[in-house]
Amino acid sequence: MDIRIQQLQKLYQDKPALENINLVLQPGSFTAIVGPSGCGKTTLIRALAGLVPINGGSIIYGEEDVTDLPPQHRQTAMVFQNYALWPHMTVFENVAYGLKLRKLAKAEIEQKVMSILEKVEIDTSDLKKRHPQQYSGGQQQRIALARALVLEPKLLLLDEPLSNLDAKVRQRLRVEIRRIQQDLGITAVYVTHDQEEALSMADQVVVMNKGRIEQAGTPEEVYRRPASYFVAHFLGNSNTLEVIRKDGDYRVGGQSFKMAEWLDIKGENLQLVVRGEEVKCSFDQPSMTGHLTFAGRLRESLFVGSGYRHWIEIEGQNLFIESDSKLQGTGSCYVHLPINQCFLFAKQTDKEAREIEA
Ligand code: ATP
Repeated sequence: MDIRIQQLQKLYQDKPALENINLVLQPGSFTAIVGPSGCGKTTLIRALAGLVPINGGSIIYGEEDVTDLPPQHRQTAMVFQNYALWPHMTVFENVAYGLKLRKLAKAEIEQKVMSILEKVEIDTSDLKKRHPQQYSGGQQQRIALARALVLEPKLLLLDEPLSNLDAKVRQRLRVEIRRIQQDLGITAVYVTHDQEEALSMADQVVVMNKGRIEQAGTPEEVYRRPASYFVAHFLGNSNTLEVIRKDGDYRVGGQSFKMAEWLDIKGENLQLVVRGEEVKCSFDQPSMTGHLTFAGRLRESLFVGSGYRHWIEIEGQNLFIESDSKLQGTGSCYVHLPINQCFLFAKQTDKEAREIEA
């Protein structure tokens, strides 16, 4: 059963928090929603859960329109950043709660609770005595995940579930959440601030900006073929070079280059975006096949732990390169940008650029 989100709108005091959201969730797929603070991620996931009333559009599960159903009848389950476990209940009672409401037989509840807690790798020996606060943050989030999964929801919603945990636990739980989601074949939507988390976990990544979807696609698509300047900048560590086009000639300052494929982009003032990890530098190689080459000057090299970050000036503009090793040279150099990793867009207005930088 696929889930279709059509023309979803949400206003807060006449200000749009979601505008024209269209999205398809394939059965058993994992969709990650990313975007800057305030772009509408939480509003979207809460709207899917029925926790936020919407102003327009529809949510369809297979053939069933669930738009007007209350949360408890949508067959969704949600996992929150702060776990939201009930402290006065034991771990067993927390996980069993939803099943009790459904009036399942005691033996069936017991079997389902134990089985799901084993799946999320919580020791089941002491569950009827221990309370959630006796567990670590990572374990509490596993319990919260079990509480959601035990209901066998059609759609599992996760709102920044790993943000409160330290880096090591986060890395481990990322892999486990993905494994469990795939084992159970459950459709999931996952909100995160962490782009690495989104790219590494998801089948589909949705990049949001100002209440709208900028791009939705596989992790490779959104990273390697960004549809807008915003997406190119939001994902990865990107450089921007200002480009002027006149009479089919493209210039970065005084240096010109030819690019037939980009002729469909309108305007004279353009911006070329390229990720720091894609750029190469040499001191004696004035061209490289499949690359745009500019003459520049190496200004600074910084050791950043995982490698080096080199700052290079090209025609008064600064560009950084990320590399594993030190550059063997100083001063004048050549900078090589792989053509298939250069993205050209119409120049952003100052206001748009400021919003992206923020
Ligand atoms: P963050 O990453 O900071 O959690 P977000 O992408 O999840 O942000 P939302 O929380 O969905 O963004 O907020 C989207 C917009 O709606 C923001 O401009 C926010 O200020 C506004 N908003 C959210 N909730 C309310 C509310 N209850 N009343 C008024 N405005 C709201």
